[in-house]
Amino acid sequence: MAKIIDGKLISKQIKDELKAEVAKLKEEGREICLAVIQVGNDPASSVYVGNKKKACEYIGIKSLAYELPEETTEKELLDIIDKLNNDNTVHGILVQLPVPEHINEEKIINAISPAKDVDGFHPASVGALSIGQKGFVSCTPAGVIQLLKRSDIDITGKDCVVIGRSNIVGKPMGMLLLRENGTVTICHSKTKNLKEICKRADILVAAIGKPKMIDAEYVKEGATVIDVGIHRMENGKLCGDVDFDSVEPVAGAITPVPGGVGPMTIAMLMNNCVEAGRNQN
Ligand code: NDP
Repeated sequence: MAKIIDGKLISKQIKDELKAEVAKLKEEGREICLAVIQVGNDPASSVYVGNKKKACEYIGIKSLAYELPEETTEKELLDIIDKLNNDNTVHGILVQLPVPEHINEEKIINAISPAKDVDGFHPASVGALSIGQKGFVSCTPAGVIQLLKRSDIDITGKDCVVIGRSNIVGKPMGMLLLRENGTVTICHSKTKNLKEICKRADILVAAIGKPKMIDAEYVKEGATVIDVGIHRMENGKLCGDVDFDSVEPVAGAITPVPGGVGPMTIAMLMNNCVEAGRNQN
């Protein structure tokens, strides 16, 4: 039976550590502030934004909410970002993605000052990660590293296989595992012999976006399996990219969905906000 890696518990530990640090900063008269911008009212985005606000409240970070109408122009959004970039009382800026189609997402990401880029999506942040410099790291893969470290799973010298090469999960995940001295293979939809490659992994990270695709046939006995995927099934329940019931008897450790990687993403966003506050004060 695999050890279940409890993302809910680990994310709570991280949030409590941050809460204590934020309280100390407040005593010194320093308040951390995150600006969250949402354009339009996509229901999923509203849930994510709501969760981010709740996490800020819990930790003691001030959050500024910009709830902009769907018809907001690119110029109006860029002007708000510019104003926030130049506001010394704001430490982190987050634009909830996706933005409506008439707005160029790349332009928006590039407009956020790298010092306030708490999502870690700016090319300067991505570049810093790839050459080992200081910068914000995309929250989901950063959360995976914390899950591994806080579960005492050593990465050094391990065969790490990441399935998925998106800019927000797969690629930064590969870079982070490399930074931790793993031997990294990144797979994608054109990869040949996927099962064979996965079966070599000591640490297997699934970030594919395909419900329950990874079953026991992809997993080496005793491997650590991290499931980044989130899908809502027809019965209303959540599942991941990993078929938990099939893989759990084979794996050495596994993250559940829900309660694995999901809660870590917000915890790491909060971590980036506190770091931004620390750096800018
Ligand atoms: P993307 O759709 O951007 O990327 C999926 C990746 O998987 C692509 O690189 C794609 O390859 C690869 N892929 C697709 N099908 C296959 C296949 N059959 N075999 C091998 N590789 C394949 O997704 P994201 O990276 O944004 O997200 C991945 C999953 O993680 C989703 O389920 C998403 O909901 C979830 N997620 C969860 C978060 C959390 O907080 N827990 C945060 C972000 C995402 P190619 O590049 O060749 O197309």
